[in-house]
Amino acid sequence: MRRVIVGVTRTLLPAAILIVGCQPADVEVVKLLPEPPTYTLPPSPPIVEKEPVKVAQPPAPRTWLEGEPGWVPPGGFSKRWTCIVIHHSATGSGCASEFHHAHQARGWDELGYHFVIGNGTGSGNGQIEVGPRWYKQKHGAHCKTAENYHNEHGIGICLVGDFERTRPTARQIASLNKLLRFLMANCSISADRVIGHREAPGAQTACPGQNVSMARIRSTARNLLAQSP
Ligand SMILES: [Zn+2]
Repeated sequence: MRRVIVGVTRTLLPAAILIVGCQPADVEVVKLLPEPPTYTLPPSPPIVEKEPVKVAQPPAPRTWLEGEPGWVPPGGFSKRWTCIVIHHSATGSGCASEFHHAHQARGWDELGYHFVIGNGTGSGNGQIEVGPRWYKQKHGAHCKTAENYHNEHGIGICLVGDFERTRPTARQIASLNKLLRFLMANCSISADRVIGHREAPGAQTACPGQNVSMARIRSTARNLLAQSP
């Protein structure tokens, strides 16, 4: 009986005793017991970070994102827009149709700007007129720079007035802020990329005039965009 137990692991002892109970005393029971299997653990699978569970959010209110009639292009927003360029007309009066004809007289196909904000002369004070280029999401003709980047990728907004001598009206500024907020949100343009024409690289102009602070326009735009709709 001692012989049988020798070599049997402690854990196998009850089984060994059980087997011994069924065997004649002189059987080499130990040899009948299988060798304990050896296991080679498979390599651990790589730890995969689980994607956070996305919980459906209710759609955000879109009242201000929808803008005014004509602000949303019928074919949707082009991906081309990366900046916004502010101009003044450098004239005391005017409106989109007047500038449209003036630009055609210069040989351009149509109004070079995408939007014109009136000062109460040719159009309403603070009235935002949408040019045909915006409707078509077509490049602008308002800010000539190297490789024509700012015409290809810049949304052109013209405020009627000569801001070397006068200032934009309060309604023009209010409309500009509203339009900037709409364009920045819908075209994913940061406030840093709202520039005055004179700030474009290589631009030889004072546009939109010494009385327009682009730093203030950007600061206001940044604050407006940070507000919830
Ligand atoms: Zn300009």
